[in-house]
Amino acid sequence: MFNPSREGKKIGMIQILDKSFVPYLSKETLQERIQSLGAEISADYAGKPLCVLAVLNGAFMFCSDLVKEITIPMELQFIKIASYAGTRSTGEVSELLGLSTSLKGKEILIVEDIVDTGLSMQYLLASMAKEAAASIRICSLLVKPEALQHPVDIHYTGFEIPKKFVVGYGLDYNGFGRNIGEIYQLKEDEHTL
Ligand code: 5GP
Repeated sequence: MFNPSREGKKIGMIQILDKSFVPYLSKETLQERIQSLGAEISADYAGKPLCVLAVLNGAFMFCSDLVKEITIPMELQFIKIASYAGTRSTGEVSELLGLSTSLKGKEILIVEDIVDTGLSMQYLLASMAKEAAASIRICSLLVKPEALQHPVDIHYTGFEIPKKFVVGYGLDYNGFGRNIGEIYQLKEDEHTL
């Protein structure tokens, strides 16, 4: 059966819709980093009421792997915030959806796929300000420091990456590519979007 990610390894590139992407972070590299993030988070929150908030859609795969590496009791909730289409941040943020229980007194860890301009994260933090959580920290698999326009303090970073569009491992290009097990980067000469 055709497996785009395996095929990509073989030929070094994959095609999603009209764009070509080159391999960037392998499954092994991702899992190794996620293991150490999980260990760090488990140690930091030992004995505390940890509540992980996974930001859908992009963080679904990262959060699924990360929580398996967290060895202390924790609560998990799924939330949704921003609208994002194509390869560019729209700057539009919709309302915060999905918070099912109060965050009062809990140690909140927001798990995000990527922080680009920081706008979504800033909105999310602002909308949680009234929740009276004991603490709120951010864990983002990817951070693009050169793209940051709205400063946010990211406590746990998986990888700092250049200001280039990436797909796979939960991240999409116009709805496709989320299922790919590794991360690919838009081919250099296609960075015209
Ligand atoms: P920000 O609000 O920080 O500019 O953007 C955050 C959201 O934009 C992320 O949660 C993600 O959905 C999307 N995004 C930003 N950069 C990328 C990228 O390189 N690839 C993909 N697939 N989405 C991105």
